[in-house]
Amino acid sequence: MSPPKARPGVLQITPYAGSEVGSGGEDRIVISSNESAFGPSWRAMEAYSGASEGTHRYPEIDARSLRQALAEHHGLDAERIICGCGSDQIIDLLALAYAGPGDETVYSEHGFTMYPIATLSVGATPVAAPETNLTADVDAILGCVSERTRIVFLANPNNPTGTYLGRDELRRLHEGLREEVLLVLDAAYAEYVTAQDYEPGMALVHDSSNVVMTRTFSKIYALASLRIGWAYGPAEIIEILDRVRPPFNVSSPAIAAGIAALADVEHTNRAREHNAELLPWFTSQLEALGLEVNPSVGNFVITRFSPGVDKDAEAAYRFLFERGIVTRRVAGYGLPDWVRMSIGTREEMEDVVAALQEFVGSS
Ligand SMILES: *Cc1c(COP(=O)(O)O)cnc(C)c1O
Repeated sequence: MSPPKARPGVLQITPYAGSEVGSGGEDRIVISSNESAFGPSWRAMEAYSGASEGTHRYPEIDARSLRQALAEHHGLDAERIICGCGSDQIIDLLALAYAGPGDETVYSEHGFTMYPIATLSVGATPVAAPETNLTADVDAILGCVSERTRIVFLANPNNPTGTYLGRDELRRLHEGLREEVLLVLDAAYAEYVTAQDYEPGMALVHDSSNVVMTRTFSKIYALASLRIGWAYGPAEIIEILDRVRPPFNVSSPAIAAGIAALADVEHTNRAREHNAELLPWFTSQLEALGLEVNPSVGNFVITRFSPGVDKDAEAAYRFLFERGIVTRRVAGYGLPDWVRMSIGTREEMEDVVAALQEFVGSS
């Protein structure tokens, strides 16, 4: 007799690494998970509290009212939207419905780790395409596509690198794929991007039968704990995903908060403007300390520390952690020399700069 054994793909999974938040006071600066600097709209919080009365009732089976609100907000068709328990769940559903043993999915080398995790979970094989200058490389991705490829996953912009592909490169990627290959554009940070040549993927979804765009309420809407994500795609694909979606997968308080957060456009704009100001400021402050910062269009940056004793990424991470500043190591993304930091409030980021100055200056 032997104990139950998980299937081979599952045994290959390295569990998703969250951040070590540690114990200690409320005054810690947590810039480890790309959460919003400001927290959610008070309207969203009010809607969330208001929904507590119906706790004994199941939520809408398919988050209908949230899908309707998303459709109105973005000018889309509600029938082509699916909501998930975070966009992570939607990534799982895509893998579950479209890939299996013997199939491959392609993602870029330093891409979001949920793609290989979801792929291995369903017994398929993730293939990492090399990047150029820490940016997804269309030719390299297309070069990794084989007869077995079912899905290409692209975070645009990507976490943790912060880089993105413009509209034309996205089109070129799409045009290089066979129609039967599903292209998943994960636009979790879309609302933060100010670059003129950026498009979150809606246009490509409209013009094709094999593109799905995923979005989240965890980032600019600051509702990470409520776990709300969504996807927009061709009606046929959304209908397939609905077959494998667990019913009632978005709770009533989450639906209520999501609808209210969408409506508070002023709050979202404030968060976007704050980031547009702080991101270049923080980047230039780090560069002034002699640190290399990878250009980012999201609400986070990665910074490089020299490998070697005392001054490497682990030393920087520890140094900051001991001063109450929680950042994220990204060695699991193939970036052992880099540390990722989200953009917090101005006061928080000033403290981070001061701490790093001390780190860089100490011997
Ligand atoms: C944070 C993030 C998400 C969001 O995940 P949720 O499950 O919606 O919280 C998705 N994709 C990327 C690339 C992210 O960084």
